[in-house]
Amino acid sequence: MKILILHTGGTIAMHNTEHGVAPDTTNPLSHLALPVAPDTELVTEEMFNLPSPHITLKEMLALSLRIRTAAQTGFNGVVITHGTDTLEETAYFLQETIGNLIPVALTGAMRSSNELGSDGLYNLLSAIRVANSTAALGRGVVVVMNDEIHAAQFVTKTHTTNVATFRSPTFGPVGVLTKHSVRFFQSPAQQTCIPITSVAGRVPIIKAYAGMTDSFFKLFEPQKLDGLVIEALGAGNLPPKAIPGLHRFIEAQVPVVLVSRCFNGIAEPVYSYEGGGVELAEMGIIFTQGINAQKARLKLIIGLNSPFAKDTQALTSFLKE
Ligand code: ASP
Repeated sequence: MKILILHTGGTIAMHNTEHGVAPDTTNPLSHLALPVAPDTELVTEEMFNLPSPHITLKEMLALSLRIRTAAQTGFNGVVITHGTDTLEETAYFLQETIGNLIPVALTGAMRSSNELGSDGLYNLLSAIRVANSTAALGRGVVVVMNDEIHAAQFVTKTHTTNVATFRSPTFGPVGVLTKHSVRFFQSPAQQTCIPITSVAGRVPIIKAYAGMTDSFFKLFEPQKLDGLVIEALGAGNLPPKAIPGLHRFIEAQVPVVLVSRCFNGIAEPVYSYEGGGVELAEMGIIFTQGINAQKARLKLIIGLNSPFAKDTQALTSFLKE
């Protein structure tokens, strides 16, 4: 088995110094002899050395293209080390652009390489075990941290510092690592994979709150945006005074995508009061299926860079799956 390890930076590649945790010129993981099965060949590439708040769609696309090439050149799986802050976004972008092509396991660390109880090396070995396992075939892109395996679609960072930070609200992990095995107990949801080659598009995220009006929406000129993600209330509702601002975007044919700000559940048009989900759906606001706002934004950008970007019906069905 031939596994490609792509390092991108993050705490897993950092040191704690007297001034705080920071990247180093050499990755502390790169000169470690990793105890893997004798038939496993590891090929390591330092793609970036970035804290994950510095990761952009450009780096996500570069990773996606590298994995597509790796799948054609004899690699059986890919491991990516990444900062945990935006790890879920890179994982989701990869899932949506490479699908189940080859097992891909992303991992990181909550404690830097020289901190007591550092989790980086352990997580890296766990991710290699997953990418190297036949159980991972056809499972898509996963996040492996703290002995759990999470699907890219729903995983999210839930704690600022705890090593058990990654959770999949509503759905739970798709698998676990035991001392001797890699076990999956949930199949991934089928998603359309679009191998895009560009990532253009201006799509902000706006979060709803009690007493929200449309004054904030008026700060944006609809023509200057390619899409908008609204993190709505509850089952998918908005304060009524926010609605007139949204009409401007719908009239300008800017796709408006809705997720719920609730941690669990799936937004749906349930309520028919003013500002309720029924009115929003009738206006043409697109309800997504349980993904969070940062992932809905990526999904919209992927759709906008797809061959069907100009086909409103096809774009809407893609966003609703
Ligand atoms: N701020 C760091 C980053 O995302 C945290 C981490 O790596 O876990 O790069």
